[in-house]
Amino acid sequence: MTLTTRLQAELGDLAAAGLTRRRRVLASPCGRRVNVDGQALLNFASNDYLGLAGDPELAAALADGARQWGAGSGASHLVSGHLEPHAALEDELAAFTGFARALTFSTGYLANLAVTPALAGRGAAVFADRLNHASLIDAMQLAKANGADIRRYPHLDMAALADQLAASDATTKLIVSDTVFSMDGDLAPLPQLLQLAERFDAWLILDDAHGFGVLGAQGRGSLAHCGLPASERILLMGTLGKAAGVGGAFVAGSATAIEYLLHKGRAYVFTTAAPPAIACALRHSLRRIAAGDELRRQLFANIARLRAGAAGLPWQLAPSTTAIQPLIVGANADAVALATALWQRGLWVPAIRPPTVPAGTARLRLSLSAAHTAEDIDALLAALKELA
Ligand SMILES: *Cc1c(COP(=O)(O)O)cnc(C)c1O
Repeated sequence: MTLTTRLQAELGDLAAAGLTRRRRVLASPCGRRVNVDGQALLNFASNDYLGLAGDPELAAALADGARQWGAGSGASHLVSGHLEPHAALEDELAAFTGFARALTFSTGYLANLAVTPALAGRGAAVFADRLNHASLIDAMQLAKANGADIRRYPHLDMAALADQLAASDATTKLIVSDTVFSMDGDLAPLPQLLQLAERFDAWLILDDAHGFGVLGAQGRGSLAHCGLPASERILLMGTLGKAAGVGGAFVAGSATAIEYLLHKGRAYVFTTAAPPAIACALRHSLRRIAAGDELRRQLFANIARLRAGAAGLPWQLAPSTTAIQPLIVGANADAVALATALWQRGLWVPAIRPPTVPAGTARLRLSLSAAHTAEDIDALLAALKELA
């Protein structure tokens, strides 16, 4: 078999299992309504929780930033790619999240890849929730390659985590968790995680991709939502392509932890800094998030309306209080058929199947946004009732 036929065989296996992926090409900006293949669709598929991705003010900040600072940063942050907008954005993110310092990254995937392997090598142990995001899992595998011990605990199971921590004689311990889980929308028990981190003298690495901008006073994130302070032992990752509507990510922490990451985070050191105009747009986005109580009120009204209206459906919504509202369908084919039928009715809702979620829990992942109106939620509910 040639190299290419081997790949073709594997792609054929995926196709036989009904797992071929295909990308839809949008002919419009991200928003509550999008255009695909000449069809107008109500969009329940994006993570644009505050409706900022297509916001004209943000686009203007990006364009102004490009005019003033050019298209590219030219180098990594440590060489010559760290421009004034990057530095200002870091300071603002640190102040906003309540941490001493922050570092910015081009993507959340990269930010997660930087943190865990920098802190955990030989003699260290990483304790991770079983449902953590793929980027945290890949980061953990890198730490393992560096000699760290890795352990996964059952989803949200604090007793199991405590047992694993107690049984470990690692010199450095890291607890790693999503704050809001990306396929379930549920929240990690942050106060208990912090208590365990304190009791076992561990780092607490938190991925707030779906909490930042959405939860807590002024959208400061999941820690603020739980009333937790910016502890020295916490490193908080937040993504800037979801609620923030632009792209990129940050890691916030103590001055020492961030200084260490700046030296030792390989996914920070060995990559070109994001275009400075992105930082300009993000500085604007941060102001919009902080002033966005009305947007969050609308988002949470949409969540409440969906949950109230879904009570009579034959499928159950997972117990989520966040913008991610999974409708558990069960069988893969049923989830796909339901998503297809919604698509035909002008509603874009992605079906999520194993291995992304456990077998038998294929689901529709409804993503709500402040951009949705009450009528949008009602249209979705009406279509689901019709298809029930
Ligand atoms: C989206 C996401 C990431 C990755 O962030 P990107 O900026 O898209 O690379 C990391 N963690 C979680 C939980 C996410 O949902």
